[in-house]
Amino acid sequence: MSPDIVVERDQSGQPHRGKVFAAIHAHLDDVPYYAGGLCAKLIAEGYTGCLIRTSNDEKCGRGTIAQNILSNQEEHFKMAAALGFKETFDFYYRNHRMNGISSTEIRGRLILLFRLLKVDTVISFNPWGHGEENPDHWVTGRAVEEACWMSGMANDFPEHLEAGLRPHPVCERYYFYARSGQPYNRVVDAGAHIEKKIDAIVECRSQGGGDLGSKLRAELARQRRRLPLLGDSDRTADRAYVRQFLLDDDREYGQPHGLAFAERFFYLDHRPPARSKVDAYIGKYAVPA
Ligand SMILES: [Zn+2]
Repeated sequence: MSPDIVVERDQSGQPHRGKVFAAIHAHLDDVPYYAGGLCAKLIAEGYTGCLIRTSNDEKCGRGTIAQNILSNQEEHFKMAAALGFKETFDFYYRNHRMNGISSTEIRGRLILLFRLLKVDTVISFNPWGHGEENPDHWVTGRAVEEACWMSGMANDFPEHLEAGLRPHPVCERYYFYARSGQPYNRVVDAGAHIEKKIDAIVECRSQGGGDLGSKLRAELARQRRRLPLLGDSDRTADRAYVRQFLLDDDREYGQPHGLAFAERFFYLDHRPPARSKVDAYIGKYAVPA
């Protein structure tokens, strides 16, 4: 195991009370799979969680494009409720076409929300992660990274200040481990939060496999067979299917650390020190004038 990897375990009490995180993803099933455990953990430890989806998910689902937009939207709200998010936003940029949108527009929209919600921490795509085929992912990641520091600068969107908002930099970042080979320096113990993660994944039915268990149960019933694993209802079937077949990555990431389930992230902490170098120097060397 690399000495640079930190294992983030559950903390007792609510050490993050008063802090706000925003999880920004492109598609219904990104946050549930890449960071469902982390989001549930941080909310349990006192964070207020806000969820932002940048695309409209029109390409994913079993309906027409218009039907897919609606089903993904409805499932997004249910998934957010399952994980305990307090606020949910949808930007509705067209799915798979986000490398054609204005990078300054999406950045500006994120800056408004970061200031409005007073976001301390973001959870999103690694903007420079290798192996990414989906433009919605890297476009979202890069806009998030730019917005995090620009949100703290008063001369970017000064009209926000006229509207009563304040500059507000976002200092802590967790970047998803979304593709094999991407960097990570933090492994989050998701064991205590895996039930909530499963609750979130089963709401992802237009994409993400949340209904595969009930479909398999129905197919087996047509063949006059059944799997005891799937239980006696569609709900138990969906949850059991996710647990048995769709969490292999979480098990693999936890195994080297003795954890049942884990998620990987590249974590950055840009919080300023409690006391600056200049203040420390003044404290040590200033003399009466
Ligand atoms: Zn995605």
